[in-house]
Order: sequence, then structure tokens, then C-alpha cells
Amino acid sequence: MLAKEQIKKLMIKYFIYCRKSTDEADRQVLSIEAQIAELKEFAKKENLEIVDCFTEAKTAKKPGREKFEQMLKIIEKGEANGILSWHADRLARNSVDGGKIIYLLDTGKLQSLKFPTLWFENTPQGKFMLSIAFGQSKYYIDNLSENVRRGIRQKLRNGVYPNKAPIGYLNEPKKRTIEIDPKTARLVRKAFQLFSTGKYTFVDIDKFFFKHGIKSSVNKYLRMDKIRNMLKSPFYYGVFEFAGETYQGTHKSIISKTLFDKCQEVIKQKSKTHFNHQKEFHFLGLAKCGECGSAITAEKHFKFYPKTRGKVRYDYYRCGKKHGYCSQKYVSDQEFEKQIREILWRHSLHELNAKRMLNWLNADEIREKQTVENKISLLKPQLTNVEQKLDRLLTGYLDQVIETNEYQMVKKKLIEEKTNFMEQISSFEKNQFLWVELARDFINSALEAHKIARAKNNGEELSFFAKKVGSNYFLSGRRLEFLPMRGFNALAAPAPAASAPLSLHDLRRGWDLNPRELYQLKRLATSRYGPLSHLSYTQLYLLKCRRKELNLHFLTETRP
Ligand SMILES: [Zn+2]
Repeated sequence: MLAKEQIKKLMIKYFIYCRKSTDEADRQVLSIEAQIAELKEFAKKENLEIVDCFTEAKTAKKPGREKFEQMLKIIEKGEANGILSWHADRLARNSVDGGKIIYLLDTGKLQSLKFPTLWFENTPQGKFMLSIAFGQSKYYIDNLSENVRRGIRQKLRNGVYPNKAPIGYLNEPKKRTIEIDPKTARLVRKAFQLFSTGKYTFVDIDKFFFKHGIKSSVNKYLRMDKIRNMLKSPFYYGVFEFAGETYQGTHKSIISKTLFDKCQEVIKQKSKTHFNHQKEFHFLGLAKCGECGSAITAEKHFKFYPKTRGKVRYDYYRCGKKHGYCSQKYVSDQEFEKQIREILWRHSLHELNAKRMLNWLNADEIREKQTVENKISLLKPQLTNVEQKLDRLLTGYLDQVIETNEYQMVKKKLIEEKTNFMEQISSFEKNQFLWVELARDFINSALEAHKIARAKNNGEELSFFAKKVGSNYFLSGRRLEFLPMRGFNALAAPAPAASAPLSLHDLRRGWDLNPRELYQLKRLATSRYGPLSHLSYTQLYLLKCRRKELNLHFLTETRP
């Protein structure tokens, strides 16, 4: 009885591991079911005890197989100490996983590996042979991808496009070439011809294809970029590009180079008109109608003055009226631009003010730097102290002055202290100048807005900065309303008459923050939870607390 028990204890517990990946090039490899069947039979014949079975449909070329990792973890826990698999290449085809298996053998967690196709014994010689088997699997993989690369190079040398054939062509697997697809080539040629007339859009071509059966794999219209890419692809007249290089193809062309060039002209023309429309009206896409919510569109009108000025162009912005009746009237482009200029000007910083604020900021930066350095210089000796304690503790433990229990307890406490100090130091180092950078960035933007508001013929810049300064632009009753962005709202000069003297109340408004609130604002911006936008609390802090002096400058400023 006792002897039997001992024998059972001595018996090795095996996991079965089967793997076959879908991309396995080697068709010789058995399917997973076949592997399991073979291995079970082998186990019975060899009298092996099987505790569990792991299967995986993933490649072993790269580390990161879940089931494999899971199995190794359980083996490390000691629940099994042997693996049964079809071949060494089922276990590992990369150096990391192969190394893991051998390491488990070295540490004794793994006692045995069994393969029906390969002899293995847990001896130095056996492990040596195993590492060669793993190495061979890796060599096979390396060789395979080298073969693929060689295949591509050979195709390129032969002028064969080494990829899926484009619409109008078919891959010929036997000859390894690309041939004309008689069904679709005719339609592709027709598409180029239609497009070259300039009367058809990409969408028209897509409709034409759909009507004649060229569809996406899910029976829908092709994607627009696919049509565009097709019409721009030189493949159709016999040349192709691969990895940034141009090759003369050996496939038959569908169209002539002349037809191709004509189509490129049309594509260029189409993108140009689109571009011009944007350029003509700078404030397109900026505002919506305050009454019905339609986008504001632009249009041009010409008026003819036969005796004086001849043909004169007038531009207007008006409600797009996409949502039915709307009573809003148009606005001339000069009026629209004037309002944008005013908005920018009111939410900007005069050069003198900006300079002054940057000086303040520089002083703050130096002060901040000093404070942070002081804090770090206080933390560093404490960190060294803990490190020394840890060192002494280890010496005491090695000299057997301290008991294991006590050692572990004190060590845990010290390590906690150490990480604490390290985290504090690194967070100081990381965050110290974040808010200063954000504030500087904001001041420079506000200064730029000021210059742009006063410059001439710069509609594009005005439009760009209008979006920076505010959002939700609405046009209603020929007036633009908007929501100033955080930070810029604090800058707003008192509207509308900047020439009127400010009341004492206005002057004082900026100073109404109490110091505690200021501290909180600053902390929010510097902590890692602080908003990272350059329009953060930091700017509010800077702007609000210095509003008083700034307002005086707004008084002397002349409007654009
Ligand atoms: Zn409207």
C-alpha cells in the first residue's frame, strides 16, 4: 500500500499543450484535434498521468500566447511538472518562450517534457538538444520570412506588383502574375474616360461602378478614397509604386498615359476650386444663425457701374436657411470682418501689458523654482537616510543579528518610506514649471491676437484667431455673439465704449479674489489633475489679480 502511494507521488503530472496557428505555412502540422488524439494515445502507451489540456490557435513566432503563459504559471505553482506536446516547435518558436521552458527545467519546476516526434531526457545533454530543437524552429521562422522577402524582391525584378491586384485586374496564382480581368477592365477604362471630361465627380464614378456590379465586399458602394486612389494610380497605364520606388510593370495597361494625365488635370482642378472657395470667404464655417441654427454661408454679387467703376464685386454672409423659414438678413463682408476684429481686439493684450505680464511671470518662475528646489533639497537627505537604514538592516540580517520576521517587517516599512520620498521628488521635478509654461503661452497668444486685430488684409488669420479666442459664434440681427474661451474672457476690455472712463467698481473688480482662492487656483493648475489647456486656471489667476493695472492701459488704447 505504502509503496503504491509513493510511486503515485513520484509520478509526474503532465499538461498536454497543442497549438496550430491559422497562418501556419507548414501544412504538415496536424490539426489541434488530431494532436490531442495522438497525444492521448501516446500518454496511454507510455503510462503518463495527464491533469489538463491546453490548446491555442496562435503563432509561436512572437511571445505573448495567453494559454501558454497560463500553463507556465500553473507549473511554477507546482500543480504539474511535465508537458506533453507534439513537437518542440509547438511549445516555442521564439527565443523568449524557449528560454522560459529551459529555465523551468533548470530550476526543477519542470521535470519532464515528452514529444512523440522527438526524444528528450532531462539531463544536460537533453537540455542541450532541446535548445537546438527550439533554435531550429526559430531558424525555420526566420528563414520563412526571408523567403517571403526574397519572393517579393523577385516579383519586383520581374515587374510584377507584389500585392493584391487593383480593380480591373486579377492575381494569377499559377503564373504568379497580374492579368487583366475581362469583366471589370472595360468598366475601369470607361470610368477614366468619363472622369477625364471633367463633368463627373468621384461620387458619379462610384454610382457608375455600383450600377455595373463593382461593389464593396459587403455589397455596398465603394469608399470614396478608393475611387480617388484608383483614378490617381499609374498602375493602369503600366507603372507601379512599391515601398516608395517606381517600377515598370509587366502587366498589360488598361488606359493610355495621355488619358491618365488628363484625369490628373481634372483632379487638380477640382481640388483647386474647393480651395478657392475657402480662400474667397475667410469666415466660412465660423458662425451659425442665431434664429434657426443653420450654418452661415457666403456669396458674391457683382454690380456694374458703366460710367464710373465698372464691374464691382460685393460679398455677403447670410443664414444658409437649411431649416425652413428664417427672417435673418445678410451682412456685408466688411461688417462681418469689422465685428471679428473688434472681438479679437477686446480680448487681447496690448504689447505693453503683455511685456509687463511676462516680466511678472519671469519673476514668479524664479520664485517658484527657488521654492521647489528648497523642497527637493529637504527631501533628498531624508531619502538618503532611508537608503542607509535599509543597507544597515540588510547587513544586520546577513550577520544573523536580526530575525527573519523582524527583518521583513522593518524592510517593508522602510521601502514604503523610500517610495514615498521618491514619488514626492519626481512629482516636484515634473510639475514645477508646467503652469508657468501654460501662462506664457497664453500671454503670447493674447499679444498676437492684438496685432492681428490691427493688421490689414488678413482675413485668414482673423478667422483662425477668432476660433482661438472664442466659440459658439452666432449671427443674429446682424450682430455676432460668441462665448469667449476661458482666460480670454478675463481679458475683455469693458465694452462697448472704451473711451468712457471706468468706474471705481470696474477697477476694483479684478482684486476681489481672496488669497486662499488664489492658492487653490494655482494648485489646481500645478497638480496632475489640473487642466492642461493653455486657458487654464493659471491664466485666470494671473489675469484676475493683475486686472487693475491692465485696465488703465485699455483706457489709453485707441481702437482699431
Ligand atoms: Zn437662420
